[in-house]
Amino acid sequence: MRAAGGAGLLVAYPRSAVVAACRDVVAEMRTRILTEDAAGHEAGPLDLMTLVDERVRERRQTHLKRLINAGGVIVNTNLGRSALAPEAVAAATEAATHYSNLEYRLETGERGSRHEHVESLLVELTGAEAAMVVNNNAAAVLLMLTVLAAGQEVVVSRGQLVEIGGSFRIPDILRLSGARLVEVGTTNKTRLSDYADAITTETALLLRVHTSNFKVVGFAEEVPIDELARLGEARRIPVADDVGSGALANIAAVAEEPSVTASVRCGADVVTFSGDKLLGGPQAGLIVGRRIWVEAMKRHPLARAVRVDKMTLAALEATLLLYREPERAISTVPTLRLLSRDEQDSREMAERLAEAICRRLRENGALDTVEVGTQKADALPGGGALPLWSIASWEVTLKAVGGAAHLETALRLAPVPVVSRVTRDRVHLVMAALEPEELELLADSVAWAVAHVAGDEG
Ligand SMILES: *Cc1c(COP(=O)(O)O)cnc(C)c1O
Repeated sequence: MRAAGGAGLLVAYPRSAVVAACRDVVAEMRTRILTEDAAGHEAGPLDLMTLVDERVRERRQTHLKRLINAGGVIVNTNLGRSALAPEAVAAATEAATHYSNLEYRLETGERGSRHEHVESLLVELTGAEAAMVVNNNAAAVLLMLTVLAAGQEVVVSRGQLVEIGGSFRIPDILRLSGARLVEVGTTNKTRLSDYADAITTETALLLRVHTSNFKVVGFAEEVPIDELARLGEARRIPVADDVGSGALANIAAVAEEPSVTASVRCGADVVTFSGDKLLGGPQAGLIVGRRIWVEAMKRHPLARAVRVDKMTLAALEATLLLYREPERAISTVPTLRLLSRDEQDSREMAERLAEAICRRLRENGALDTVEVGTQKADALPGGGALPLWSIASWEVTLKAVGGAAHLETALRLAPVPVVSRVTRDRVHLVMAALEPEELELLADSVAWAVAHVAGDEG
């Protein structure tokens, strides 16, 4: 810390932060010298101080940071699924900044329920009798199974015993709830008679699960929810439908996903779906259905363990309000807007981005190290939905002197990281999940990554 440059750091940052960063950097140097060839690491005091400076800054930044999704998957669970509409952001900020009537009835001054804020809206939008919201759809399914079927049997088609990713598997969640799985049918075909034959005095629930992230095509048959609901009604057994992503609005882009409203209309007693897949809201699990079941779920102790927080509720309510006017939802909910973007707009964005990248490379004298092109690209909705559906989009391709793999890595490590697609000799920046406002920033990251790769080469 007494080295040249140390005094400057102590003016800029608290002593404790500089000490911690110095220790980090020196410890890393030691390890590198011991494990690698020492000759390459003859860092002088000034280099060390630069590293310490970088480390102090790094330690002050959050680990969770925004990035640019140029990978062509719109609802990408690893990248946070859906960005929120401005209305939802404003509502979440308001809820986070101030006290609210979260569980308080302003009319009577008595304790209220956090479900009240979105229940009537969900009832209006889906036609169900009642609704509640929990942490995510996995929690919604667990709560539903626990309340409706713990200690009893649940009948599920073998074709619907799905894994959604991140270790959510229907047989596992069923076991966790204390219910017993009764498998019926086969992988590709399950008929109504298979369900009917499996019903015993122990049967508590008929469960349909939307296969979401895959499709069985060819010699395949599933029982539609209306037929399953009629069977359930005749045998006095509730029927639940986990529609996964779920589509709330009648929007062309998501028309192939099971509609929540249709499920309710067809007679499903409980329908569960995610808030942050194609709905385009915050992470949440939405449960709609018959009042008797929803009220039982609200009362169960597990509901408290999987309850939704106030910021999520605020963002969800604001998002659902937009769905009252579907046209407004399409133009303001980012996920819906991206799904509905036409190819020509993607093409114009790709051309603008290519220009912006070339402009920066020219300024940096690096234009001759990268080949920049534009072409058509296939993008995916993602979010475990519409697995066979691809979206016509456009992309910018980069062929760099240092190789595609190095450039792709450098893009991920840029100050504003970029997730891209990489093929053998090119990096692809797909427009499908990008907003026009991000293009200049993306061009900055590309220029940074190109310079970084060139620096490594030198
Ligand atoms: C995605 C999905 C889930 C899990 O939802 P999360 O919101 O990720 O918890 C459950 N069931 C189905 C059918 C899904 O598609």
